[in-house]
Amino acid sequence: MRAIKREVPKLSVITDVCNCEYTSHGHCGKVVDGEVENDTSVEWLAAAAVSHARAGADIVAPSDMMDGRVAGIRKALDAAGFSNIPIMSYAAKFASGFYGPFREAADSTPQFGDRRSYQMDPANAREAMREIELDLEEGADIIMVKPALPYLDLIRMARDRFDVPVAAYQVSGEFSMIVAAARNGWVDQERVMMETLTSIRRAGAGIILTYFAKDAARLL
Ligand SMILES: [Zn+2]
Repeated sequence: MRAIKREVPKLSVITDVCNCEYTSHGHCGKVVDGEVENDTSVEWLAAAAVSHARAGADIVAPSDMMDGRVAGIRKALDAAGFSNIPIMSYAAKFASGFYGPFREAADSTPQFGDRRSYQMDPANAREAMREIELDLEEGADIIMVKPALPYLDLIRMARDRFDVPVAAYQVSGEFSMIVAAARNGWVDQERVMMETLTSIRRAGAGIILTYFAKDAARLL
């Protein structure tokens, strides 16, 4: 991050704040007797977020889905003198089959169990709105829906309901399906890429996180 800021000072840097990249078991927090211990995990996340801010992050983005982590991170950032650093919360993050390619690349598939105890049930739209509301109450500045394409209705619902920027994350599985289909000659990659990004924008996302970012930026 420091190197990026040195080379490209005007580039905004947003960091993913989570523990799963650094745990041997791949879960997003401290595991005790096979269960993720929420409060210790939140302390870890808060410490990580402060270290990111110190290194130059412009926005921190907790992706773990632990309860109370936005409040924990906000408190820690404020105490460390980073009250100006916004929190982009992965507020509605679903237990999804679309994360596969990233998990394989990052080697972050949980060694046992799965993340369903702290990620959300894809069938439950109202719970998603409740999670977003809670994150906003805790001090989130930007809220995110993840994945994007299978959850366009929730992006729209969040846009209509909450008066903060809504971000949507087009995840690795969404990206890979398009790239793979294009490689097989089944779809035109650029066209389908722009069509999906447009649909996410149309649904109400003001910010899109996507592996197509550079390709799309060139076209735009
Ligand atoms: Zn995680």
